[in-house]
Amino acid sequence: MFSLQTELIKITNLTAAEEPLSRAAAILRQGGLVVFPTETVYGLGGNGTDANAAKRIYAAKGRPSDNPLIIHVARPEDAEAYAVTHPLYYRLANAFMPGPLTVILPKRDTIPLSVTGGLDSVAVRCPAHPVANRLIELAGIPVAAPSANLSGKPSPTCAEDVIRDLSGRVDIILDGGDCEIGLESTIVKIEDDGLLLLRPGGITYDALCMVCERVRVADAVTHQLAANERPLSPGMKYRHYAPTAPLVLLSGEDNAVLRFLQTEQAARRCAILCYEEERAALQPNCLIPVGGREDLEQQARRLFHALRQADDTGAEIIYAHLPPLEGLGLALYNRMIRAAAHTVMQIRETGAQQ
Ligand code: AMP
Ligand code: MG
Repeated sequence: MFSLQTELIKITNLTAAEEPLSRAAAILRQGGLVVFPTETVYGLGGNGTDANAAKRIYAAKGRPSDNPLIIHVARPEDAEAYAVTHPLYYRLANAFMPGPLTVILPKRDTIPLSVTGGLDSVAVRCPAHPVANRLIELAGIPVAAPSANLSGKPSPTCAEDVIRDLSGRVDIILDGGDCEIGLESTIVKIEDDGLLLLRPGGITYDALCMVCERVRVADAVTHQLAANERPLSPGMKYRHYAPTAPLVLLSGEDNAVLRFLQTEQAARRCAILCYEEERAALQPNCLIPVGGREDLEQQARRLFHALRQADDTGAEIIYAHLPPLEGLGLALYNRMIRAAAHTVMQIRETGAQQ
């Protein structure tokens, strides 16, 4: 079914890239699929006003079609044509756009229901990455784009990971190097009395609180949905970011966790997403450093590629540290807890307890 000749275009200099970007923009207008880099993760773009393009996006990703797509615009005010905006939308836009923030707004008829998974609301984002922004501007249409991974896999943060998942399934892949943030956008919904945070990302809870007095964090950000619970955002219900081997998150005092990891390395083939500080104390095989203990930005940048690398080791189990809930830690926590299917092991001095 998928046998497209995917064209790979490397972009290192934006001004020299006008010709390929214009070509990619034309392909988007004609209903084709273009993968492009953003500051969060790579996006799989199609024409957001074209129901057929949406169908192609879902098919290329193997994504359930009730999981809505985010509409990308070149300027915050371009959202007017596709959504009913709100004064709070413009306060958020002034503070964070272009940037890693997605806002859910009531949808206008210009966006087909197949793009929003049947919902009467639409998710809007204005990306800051110059390649993404210029591509959308040249296309002159809203670009519907989910993350450019096969459904269920970690989002791609470099061209190599996109190529592995989507080569032959899309028309063009624009390679813009590594993504700066590495986690998908923060998603908020505007409610009567404030904001509901549906997915944490590069724009933190604290940053949102600077713009809006009332910011509520949806329960599903940190907790597992009950079997009978209806998700506020359709994406919450899907298993996400998941490596093939089970991922277990470790919590506990630093030295106790390190001793546990040393014992496990001696006992079985495990991949470890470790802090730089732990490197010297662990065996090098299947060890994947994700950054300094306090360097949440680096950990965010490396997480998704690290999960893919961990799978490539063929390890029977993957260990990683449970991130803190503060700052960018909340976004890391949200992705990792779901990748781990909520498996957290509390390590005590005397041994492990789940
Ligand atoms: P992705 O494009 O892979 O970053 O995922 C986009 C996510 O945005 C989806 O999984 C949804 O959960 C969320 N989303 C998109 N549109 C809406 C909407 N209209 N209402 C609530 N959540 C949405
Ligand atoms: Mg995604």
